[in-house]
Amino acid sequence: MSVDLRSDTVTRPTGAMREAMARAPVGDDVYGEDPTVNELQEFAAALLGKERALYLPSATMSNQVAVLAHTERGDELFCDVDAHVYGAEAGSPAMLAGVMCHTLPAVGGIVAADVLEAAIRPANIHHPRPRLLTLENTHNGAALHPDRLAATVAVARAHGLSIHLDGARLFNAAVALNLSARTLTEPVDSVTVCLSKGLGAPMGALLAGSNAFIERALRYRKALGGGLRQAGIVAAGGLFALRHHVERMADDHRRARTLASALSGLPGMRVVEAEVPTNMVMVDLDGASGPLVDQGRGVGVLFGSMGPGRLRLVTHLDVDDAGIAAAADFFTKVARERRGA
Ligand SMILES: *Cc1c(COP(=O)(O)O)cnc(C)c1O
Repeated sequence: MSVDLRSDTVTRPTGAMREAMARAPVGDDVYGEDPTVNELQEFAAALLGKERALYLPSATMSNQVAVLAHTERGDELFCDVDAHVYGAEAGSPAMLAGVMCHTLPAVGGIVAADVLEAAIRPANIHHPRPRLLTLENTHNGAALHPDRLAATVAVARAHGLSIHLDGARLFNAAVALNLSARTLTEPVDSVTVCLSKGLGAPMGALLAGSNAFIERALRYRKALGGGLRQAGIVAAGGLFALRHHVERMADDHRRARTLASALSGLPGMRVVEAEVPTNMVMVDLDGASGPLVDQGRGVGVLFGSMGPGRLRLVTHLDVDDAGIAAAADFFTKVARERRGA
């Protein structure tokens, strides 16, 4: 029995998804003539409550195209110091858009309104132009209710900032909060959704926003080499995922909670609690995470570390109840051996 809890990116397309992909009508999407890509984009725009959506190869490209389309060189982007856009996308805001990232401390993924307010400099020839706020939902596996973001959003609006939501796992948040995706995207100008994480498509992401914004984004997508041709083959996987794999995320969340409660009683481990958890279990260890990751791999229980003393276990489409039981067994044995040692 092996189980892969490293990330929800490891999911493989199901048989039914592969069939939908094989059957998909296609055309040249750079000409706007791929019917499946067009259907996916229209379906996603409605789901996300925006005028238009654009299919891109990855959520990283989607976020960076959004940064490019919202800013000019020298503008200032405000984000949480842990933001994926800032710290996990190869320095692209600087490399590609030439913007300054002004990182701010956050609690549970939320930059407080007064922290943002204090960081925004007045208009003055000496200052960078404050232009964009990025948010993330889910953030490290925690779903953020829009009410908890409202004060920060209001400060951004009062200063004329645009707002981009990195919703790589937006549907996990929607399912966990029992809210529609469009309720979560209503306060923001643009949103990225990853199709290749918990949704289970082999690749792809969506960027949604106003018509004018997507018109600019289309040009940057092309500039970055993201204009694809018969992309309907893979877009069909994304469309299938949005139709069939959203509600089932509740199963991933339930399994993550089962795993969390199995681990929470074990000596030397502390489960990090989120107000509204989704498909991730974060565990702080008394010791180092690296050796435990290696030990797990040796017996087919795969998971990752988030820094020297923290583990991350992620549930997804390819993890079932037996996989959760195997992981719980592994950690129980480890705890027992340690106590005996
Ligand atoms: C995974 C992730 C991305 C990037 O997604 P890719 O499709 O791997 O490029 C962006 N933001 C967040 C919050 C993510 O978790």
